[in-house]
Amino acid sequence: MHYLAPAGTPVTMRDIAHGLACATRGSTAVAGLQAALCTVSGISHAWPVSSGRAAMTVILRTMRLAADDPSRCEVIVPAYTCYSVAAAIERAGLRPRICDIDPATLSMDPEQLRRCDFSRTLTVVSANLYGLPNDLATIESICLERGVFFLDDAAQALGASISGRPAGSFGHAGLFSFDKGKVISTIQGGTVVCGLNDLAGKLDAEIASLPKTGIGEQTVNMLKLGIYSIFLRPGLYPLVRALPFTRLGHTVYEPRYPITHLSGFSSAVAERLLTRLEDLNLARQRVAAGLEHALDGLRAIELVRPLPGAVAVYARFPLLVRDATTRAELLTAFDRAGIGASASYPAALADVPQVRANLPAADTDCPGARRIASMILTLPTHAYCPPDLPQRVREVIDECTK
Ligand SMILES: *Cc1c(COP(=O)(O)O)cnc(C)c1O
Repeated sequence: MHYLAPAGTPVTMRDIAHGLACATRGSTAVAGLQAALCTVSGISHAWPVSSGRAAMTVILRTMRLAADDPSRCEVIVPAYTCYSVAAAIERAGLRPRICDIDPATLSMDPEQLRRCDFSRTLTVVSANLYGLPNDLATIESICLERGVFFLDDAAQALGASISGRPAGSFGHAGLFSFDKGKVISTIQGGTVVCGLNDLAGKLDAEIASLPKTGIGEQTVNMLKLGIYSIFLRPGLYPLVRALPFTRLGHTVYEPRYPITHLSGFSSAVAERLLTRLEDLNLARQRVAAGLEHALDGLRAIELVRPLPGAVAVYARFPLLVRDATTRAELLTAFDRAGIGASASYPAALADVPQVRANLPAADTDCPGARRIASMILTLPTHAYCPPDLPQRVREVIDECTK
């Protein structure tokens, strides 16, 4: 039986062979990836690191140093985003504050953001979930007005843009992730990006002091990437679905993780994947357009549309199911049909116990995020999706909701 992984990037044996050949030339491989990232993203400075959450921790630490004001210890985050964002804030010694999202766009509600208490704010963070850009120009202008930093979290949005500017390039600094289920994947990895010379100098100093990836860690990643590259194929995916490290979008709150330079191996693989970024994103956009067309107007669901002026890259295809019972039934039905649908992050950040413990009561009021947590369902868009996927998805939904 074939099974479509919920998300993924096809990695070839040649990509891995190239990575192995470059593994011992770490600094050359990293420099190559740096240059490729700057070209692809249009952002002038890039520093590959061990993960997206490591990138976020480093950026927040650097912003803290740059602000040089101990009272600025809070980071405003969208009420629905990856739990690693909150974990990275804890890891940087800062406190999260929550701004609710607009369920129609998944972007922070600008009115709500304007009403936030900025008296202790260091930074505001975006989300750009599933590769759909947030209302980044508006968030950026609110941050500039309030004199706080803006960190454009484009972990899932490498190659996306809005108003002609790349996601990840808004505000003061940004990040991309190369984890499983992101736009490109080296199993683990990420990058800090920054277009402002002043802050870039400080980031450069902070990142220069990071340790190298340990040889053990690097070896484990090589093996995992080898397994991933073989078993992401729909004919083989059922065999590895049960292994914990292949679980995509599995969400835990974990503030302990390595913060190191990206290894030579992962940097070389990422650089090769970047040369195919446009094709990978085009393929995902095509699947998304097919799904949008096939599912438009169905009563049981609502589509999430990109904002005006946005080019989305669809790391996954999000839709909202009108009630929780139907969503549970759909998840089971998709699973049975061999389509890796996911309920994404299971809860609003304010409902994650480790986050909630540190929040003021007012921040736990986030109806938009709770609505999304209970309604969202994502579908695969990757290059292994067959041309009849939209039709099959439509049939599963029709059958389940008739
Ligand atoms: C995945 C993700 C991160 C963290 O990236 P990792 O590489 O998994 O550490 C941060 N923010 C968002 C929105 C993400 O999706």
